[in-house]
Amino acid sequence: MCGIVGYIGRREASPIIVDGLKKLEYRGYDSFGVAIIGSSLTVSKHQGRIAENANSAGSLQGKLGIGHTRWATHGIPNEINSHPHTDCSGEIALVHNGIIENYAELKRALLAQGHTFRSDTDTEVIVHLIEDRYKETQDLLSAVQATLPSLKGSYAILVIRNGEDRLIAARCASPLVLGVGDGEYFAASDMTPLIEHTERAVFLEDGDIASVSRTSVAIFHGNEPVNRPIELVDLRLEDVKKGGFAHYMLKEIYEQPQAFYNTIQAVRDLSLSPEITCISPITLVACGSSFNAGLIFKYLLEEAGNIPARIEFGSEFKYFPPPVGGTVIGITQSGETADTISALLQAKAQNCCTIAITNVLGSSVSRVADRTIFMRAGPEISVAATKSFVTQLAVLMQMVNRLSENTYDEILAHGHHVIEELLLMDFSDAVDLCMTAQSIFYVGRGAFYPVSLEGALKMKEIAYIHAEGYAAGELKHGPFALLSPKTPVIAICMPGKTYGVMISNIKEMKARGAPVIALGSAGDKELIDIVDLYLPLPGNNVFVQVLASLVALQLIAYYTAVALGKDVDKPRNLAKSVTVE
Ligand code: GLU
Repeated sequence: MCGIVGYIGRREASPIIVDGLKKLEYRGYDSFGVAIIGSSLTVSKHQGRIAENANSAGSLQGKLGIGHTRWATHGIPNEINSHPHTDCSGEIALVHNGIIENYAELKRALLAQGHTFRSDTDTEVIVHLIEDRYKETQDLLSAVQATLPSLKGSYAILVIRNGEDRLIAARCASPLVLGVGDGEYFAASDMTPLIEHTERAVFLEDGDIASVSRTSVAIFHGNEPVNRPIELVDLRLEDVKKGGFAHYMLKEIYEQPQAFYNTIQAVRDLSLSPEITCISPITLVACGSSFNAGLIFKYLLEEAGNIPARIEFGSEFKYFPPPVGGTVIGITQSGETADTISALLQAKAQNCCTIAITNVLGSSVSRVADRTIFMRAGPEISVAATKSFVTQLAVLMQMVNRLSENTYDEILAHGHHVIEELLLMDFSDAVDLCMTAQSIFYVGRGAFYPVSLEGALKMKEIAYIHAEGYAAGELKHGPFALLSPKTPVIAICMPGKTYGVMISNIKEMKARGAPVIALGSAGDKELIDIVDLYLPLPGNNVFVQVLASLVALQLIAYYTAVALGKDVDKPRNLAKSVTVE
């Protein structure tokens, strides 16, 4: 994960880099550092968030530099392990996003040759290898080119060397983009830190190495020069600002009606043939919230279109690939989720047709899949996914619609109104019940079962309250042992074929002393009488009820986390884009 930023140009580098790192903090935020070349190479590294230590790092003098905000994979998050790392001479500095899988054997060999290591990271081997190659080549670009074939794993790296007026950038299975300014260049993990400086970007491909000076960039694929186009990126600065909201998460929740509408419109004419037909098996692969979106799709598709679908975790698929054929759909917000990308590669090896659903243009998954469908959520800064989830649902619901002969056109065209209505509701009573809970169970049936999984995930992620989503009928097969007045149950109970059995399940839970918060449809007298708190949701069909209940659960988690004083946008131990397996 982690975010990296580099700058070379006519302005002071460190404020630009520190500011850029702040915008990338959603990718990792346990420590950070910068290296700047002015009259010499200076490195400033810190444990903790950027805001706490921005001044010392942001005041280094020089017009060339690199920076990193870390999500530790190898070595605890402390100052020594934070990036940039330097070679033995202290002349070369490097930042890295990814994991070097063969670092242990490389480190043993480097130690035997007399190199001194300071950190416990996998990353540090790269800079010592470059140091060795530099001694042979006396050229930083050639030294990096000669080093990369020894590395196994994933990396996006930026390298600078004292006395050289250029920045070397390279990537393999971790994202890296160059921003093209006027007499200046930028490098970053994604466009977020670059928007305020330039809209012109070059997306590097796996295996690319770029040598960037103040006035030009030369790109090589391995050792061969290549041309990569300059693309115009359509992002606005407001998209990555909080805009008066207390947190990015709340802003992004409020952006959901517009985001859902935009995506539904954008994919309205989605043609699914020849990849998907009613007879080709469909498998989804995904992780985290994307998995829950995929599971909702499976229920909706099977119910609406009578078309079977299966869903697998990306992290399991690569190592235990099931016998799949037909079409495999990978869902990843960032387009960089390593587990999902590996699963799609595995599916290709099994001769499947592959489709990616992602939010990020030019992301790794779009290079892997045969076809990519963009969610168009816009930037999502909060680590907990909200509008990206809703736009994933927009794509997936539109797919269900297309596969069932556009039966749901009308419903989907008005889905955003239901989210708008929901945003006007008051959840403070639910928050009062949740914030003192030891544990919370979320239950639903059919498509509302994955909605309950997603609701529980949000509560765990941002409020740090233990929460579990269950298919409502499963609670009595074990978890009932945990029910008590301190373990509220949030039940999604909508009219339909499971309504009666949901009512029975709720009564069983009440009989065991658990307070029940019910999300139901408006005016449901039966439900009102048996639950502790009844929240009537808008919507009168499963598609929009899924949206309404989902957004209600997002808001309950959000306000509970706020009431408990948690760091909503940057929950502990997490990072947004999970680029490691
Ligand atoms: N593997 C490196 C480390 O632990 C980089 C982690 C990251 O991508 O943030 O330092």
